[in-house]
Amino acid sequence: MIEFKVLKKSKKSKARLGLLKTEKGLVETPCFIPVATQAVVKTLDSQEVKETKSQILIVNTFHLHLKPGEDAVKKAGGLHQFMNWQRPLMTDSGGFQVFSLGFGKDFGMGKILKKKTTNEIRIEYGQQPKLLKIDQDGVYFRSFLDGKKVFLGPRESIKIQEKLGADIIFAFDECTSPIADYKYTKKSLERTNLWARVCLKEKKSSQALFGIVQGGRYKDLRIESAGFLGTLPFDGFGIGGEFGDNKKKMLEMLNWVIKELPEQKPRHLLGIGYLEDIPKIIERGVDLFDCNVPTHYARRGIAFTSMGKLDLGKIEFLKDKSPLDKKCSCFVCQNYTRNYIAHLFRAKEITALKLLTFHNLYFFNSFVEKIRKKIKEGKI
Ligand SMILES: [Zn+2]
Repeated sequence: MIEFKVLKKSKKSKARLGLLKTEKGLVETPCFIPVATQAVVKTLDSQEVKETKSQILIVNTFHLHLKPGEDAVKKAGGLHQFMNWQRPLMTDSGGFQVFSLGFGKDFGMGKILKKKTTNEIRIEYGQQPKLLKIDQDGVYFRSFLDGKKVFLGPRESIKIQEKLGADIIFAFDECTSPIADYKYTKKSLERTNLWARVCLKEKKSSQALFGIVQGGRYKDLRIESAGFLGTLPFDGFGIGGEFGDNKKKMLEMLNWVIKELPEQKPRHLLGIGYLEDIPKIIERGVDLFDCNVPTHYARRGIAFTSMGKLDLGKIEFLKDKSPLDKKCSCFVCQNYTRNYIAHLFRAKEITALKLLTFHNLYFFNSFVEKIRKKIKEGKI
């Protein structure tokens, strides 16, 4: 069970300050959620993640289903115990993998399309991705680990997520591709809506269940999706899928969707959170958002700082004795210098990735903490 309270609503925008209560503790919103795909934030242990001011993590249902399997996690005492993370947790539904292992893989694309590919290819109604098959019951995958057939539908997803035991779980959905045509997206939405009801019926645990708004880049479908889900007894709402051809479109989409969702329930924007997007999505009324940007970039040698992004792979940093960010009070910035981290990165020492991941997460969490403060002070 969760409880969500809106503590303050901005007069300048749709931003709001909230408090999410779970059995494992409180989450102050708006909140950035680090991604712990395989029940770990890559390179860090749970104690370190805590020290980055992270309040809640999101774990990948599909990956854990394949390895080590939800029964193994349940036997280990559930995800919190397994990971030694006694703070709130979420699991996604596996629906995003329908996209990333399906059309996403076929066409080599992410959630936000790069302009070049936009007008060249379209996914039409009736079309199926190469590596998986989608029907009314769910999705047939091939495991990328051993090629074994895997079936995932709304019932399966809920059962797996119940065994994993996170505080917040998501309904199973089809995340449609940015290039799906109207008819494909409309049919897909009908399926996602049907699955939403199945998920609600299937859930027996006291975990909070969030429905996921889909509808692609089409205004009427987005509004229909949010309006429909808003009438169902979900504990909160994810906003998923693709956000059109550009970020401006994504923000427009949030404007359509958020006013259709119930005020008193939390809204989670799935998988979006570039630093520059964060204030904009919060101003449109998003309470929670997860993104792998800080951790993913860290492993490629990139530090986010108050002066912009730094590429520690560049030779100039080998002589730079300053911390990653003079304004940052994280453990890494208090104790290590750019030249040392740049050296570790070039020497391919894994500690470089750990230090960068730690700093980036701390930086993102502090960035959002400042936004919360601004909402409190009436500045946003
Ligand atoms: Zn730092």
